[in-house]
Amino acid sequence: MMRIDILTLFPEYVDYILSESIIGRARRAGKLDIRCHNIRDWSEDKHRRVDDTPYGGGRGMLMAAPPIFRAWEAVTASGREENHAERVRTVYLSPRGSVFCQDKAREYAGYDQLILLCGHYEGVDERLIEEIVDEEISIGDFVLTGGELPACLVADAVGRLCDGVLTLPECYEKESFADNLLEYPQYTRPPVWHGREVPEVLLSGHHANIEKWRQEEAARITAERRPDLLEKNRGSD
Ligand code: SAM
Repeated sequence: MMRIDILTLFPEYVDYILSESIIGRARRAGKLDIRCHNIRDWSEDKHRRVDDTPYGGGRGMLMAAPPIFRAWEAVTASGREENHAERVRTVYLSPRGSVFCQDKAREYAGYDQLILLCGHYEGVDERLIEEIVDEEISIGDFVLTGGELPACLVADAVGRLCDGVLTLPECYEKESFADNLLEYPQYTRPPVWHGREVPEVLLSGHHANIEKWRQEEAARITAERRPDLLEKNRGSD
């Protein structure tokens, strides 16, 4: 079973989001081991402080290296002992990182243990990144107050790819980005709604024609909205 450890100043917030719906059910069913840790638990300050002013001056506060390092040491040791984790990846959620995508989610789902570090304030001491972080990942070109929502987003995208989390693996074999294509349109009952009819081919029961229609629609929508994905496909031919 895959283990995901999230190092944060707001473990209840992250845990709450990842306790709902499919991911929450998978955790309760023992298909996914997600643990949220409060970095303050590793602070040696009597007020449990984990931040300090940046050297050289400037705005805001920075998260200091020592408590985060101690937290990371504890979760990697526990991953080794409890989960026999050998393939471990430590990711710092950061606007400076490369932008998260489905290929990255697939790659992370192949690790035994994924450690997600959430920054806050102005970020974390650079030396900590050099010491423990394998990769910085951003969720887009905008700045949030903390890495908690990005970590939930990564944990959700990775978690749903893990064995036994989705009941039908076809769900992710045929969805958007699976072959660098966006998904075709889908419909459910009623067959006519607000005067809009479900495409006839989908009601025909002819599986080959339905599959052909879906492929054509996926190609059409991808060409309209994300021609860059089709380019990627050509590159991998
Ligand atoms: N001073 C940093 C900068 O200019 O790059 C921004 C720090 S931000 C206010 C605080 C934390 O939020 C970051 O350390 C990071 O963990 C998280 N964060 C903010 N935007 C993010 C994004 N687009 N992707 C991933 N994490 C983000």
